[in-house]
Amino acid sequence: MQVHFKATWLMTAIALIGPSIADAQAAPKNVGEDQAAYSSKPGDDFYRYANGEWLKANTIPVGHSTYDNRAMLAEKTNQQVRDLIQHAASAHANKGTVLQKVGDYYTSFLDLGSIETKGLSPIADEMSRIGAITNTGSLSAYLGTTLNSEVEGLTANGDHVFGLWINQGFEDSDHNFPHIWQGGLGLPDRDDYLDSSRDKAELRDQYQAHIKALLKQAGDADSENKAARILSLETRIARAFAPNIDAADVFKQNNPWKRADFYTKAPGLDWDAYFRSAGLAEQQDFIVWQPSAVIGVSALAASENIDVWKDYLRFHLLEHYAGVLPKAIATEHVALYDTILSGTQQISDRTQQAITATNGALGHAVGQLYVQLCFPPTAKARAEAMVRDLIAAYRGRISNLTWMSSQTKQKALAKLGTLQVIVGYPDVWTDYSSLDVSPSDALGNMRRAEAFNRSRNIAKLKHPANPIEWPINPQLPGAVIMFSPNAEFFSAAILQPPYFDWQGDSASNYGSAGAAMAHEITHSFDELGNIYDAQGRLGAWWNAEDRSRYVEATAKLVEQFNRYCPLIELCVDGKQTLTENSADLAGLLVAHDAYVLSLHGQGDVVIHGLSGEQRFFLAFANRWRKLQTETALRQQLKTDTHAPGEYRSDTVRNVDAWYETYTVAPGDKLHLKPEDRVRIW
Ligand SMILES: [Zn+2]
Repeated sequence: MQVHFKATWLMTAIALIGPSIADAQAAPKNVGEDQAAYSSKPGDDFYRYANGEWLKANTIPVGHSTYDNRAMLAEKTNQQVRDLIQHAASAHANKGTVLQKVGDYYTSFLDLGSIETKGLSPIADEMSRIGAITNTGSLSAYLGTTLNSEVEGLTANGDHVFGLWINQGFEDSDHNFPHIWQGGLGLPDRDDYLDSSRDKAELRDQYQAHIKALLKQAGDADSENKAARILSLETRIARAFAPNIDAADVFKQNNPWKRADFYTKAPGLDWDAYFRSAGLAEQQDFIVWQPSAVIGVSALAASENIDVWKDYLRFHLLEHYAGVLPKAIATEHVALYDTILSGTQQISDRTQQAITATNGALGHAVGQLYVQLCFPPTAKARAEAMVRDLIAAYRGRISNLTWMSSQTKQKALAKLGTLQVIVGYPDVWTDYSSLDVSPSDALGNMRRAEAFNRSRNIAKLKHPANPIEWPINPQLPGAVIMFSPNAEFFSAAILQPPYFDWQGDSASNYGSAGAAMAHEITHSFDELGNIYDAQGRLGAWWNAEDRSRYVEATAKLVEQFNRYCPLIELCVDGKQTLTENSADLAGLLVAHDAYVLSLHGQGDVVIHGLSGEQRFFLAFANRWRKLQTETALRQQLKTDTHAPGEYRSDTVRNVDAWYETYTVAPGDKLHLKPEDRVRIW
């Protein structure tokens, strides 16, 4: 199974959050016992004061360029998910239960004997449907059947023409619309086809050899020429794709098209046939994200030789199901995607592939089993209580902003009022009861799971938009901001130690996961989120004066970060990292306010000789510990919008409470005079 994730398309309407929350880190459990190891004075080097021991005790794993909490948690979660899926497989649970479906999906994927014996027969019916294509009409009808073969809404552009995502409109937050995305390329990026550099030319040679090998495995004669023609067709599709810079501009994606517009604006495809077989026969309103791609591909459907299209479709059918086809095909597929395209030398083992496939097809089923094990309702309740404190703290901060006009503040407060911050797992799980999973039919299982997800998606068109529809699986460590609708999701897997300990110390939880959540909430109000209103509709709500006063308010933070130089000739770029640094600062301040609120006027408790305030700031600094090679550091400084962890940890310099907590005084290296401490939010 091949799932391409196109971050550039999603960053606008949906900001996928990896590094920021994923760096969240709670204080070590026996924090007091580590104290003897704190070699640095907090006021001189708070990062090493908090993390010195960890930095000394850990090394970067072989084959990697970084190591941090995020990597540690990914490993841990992977192991948890592996254990529970394998347990499901050996449980032989009653037919129809979630446990049976998860277990049998996994079992079938590993039933190599049965996969080998069946050969290509499970896709013979679809191969003959492709074989029966004779003209643009039948080509259009077939292409329609491949629309929306994504496993879930956040994966875009697979190997098919086009991608479909069901979500509210950019201007209409009440109804769901089909959002049509460009699609149809085997290589991940437009530039992979169009860039004339040597690296990309080499990649294209490898891809062409891969197409040839796959067709040969399927018994095609003349696979050499067919591969060349398929690559040439994909190159023409790539030319129609929107340049990445346009694909990142959300205002350019808001193109409402009526059904009839497809005929006038994008002639070529038989659109009635296409939408009928896509299950969208009745649909009148669409949102086309990249019109150039729809126009270009539609024209190609009419102009390109029909036999080339048929070869292209046969190849992509093989590629799509490669993981559950005989070994020769599966191996060829994995060699391309695991090594050449992912840039690593490691081919994942079959067990890992089975885990990934099960997780992908039955995300909420695995999620249910995962939270039973790792995130009970008590954990959810505790995280929700923290969210309530964060929102209350935010309300106070917004009301007191000096750079935002009072009119804009009303809009911000309205947006905060409707913002949904959802933690752990959905209250209502996907109901898989109509999905049949067999222990000996890997390809059938995959196909049925895709059909299930497809009709589930399309059914959403009949219902009002649901702002709390989960866009991420609870067992995936991460967080997602959905600017449209106005919601943020923090998965159960990210809310576990070392980030958040539902049985552990509250001060550490607020300083770590709390500050990370408040960071993400800030993005709903800053220069990322200020083009989406309280209902997630597109429209800028800061005025010109807010903008210029914001720039003024942030200038000192830009300077502060410009002065951090981890390499003699290379410093942090304060402008490039401003949005994230500003969200870090807001996140820390809001989390601190929220922590104080959570005490309800009761005093701090001392744990292992540390006050709550001390544990709060320590946990904040612990989030940022990271080992990385010099090459990785250079790359980060040049391209990343996030500053290196050490300087993110130094955000504490701007917070008065930190000075009191650690008695930081003039002369200490991190000390800033009160008037030099930055206050934005
Ligand atoms: Zn951020």
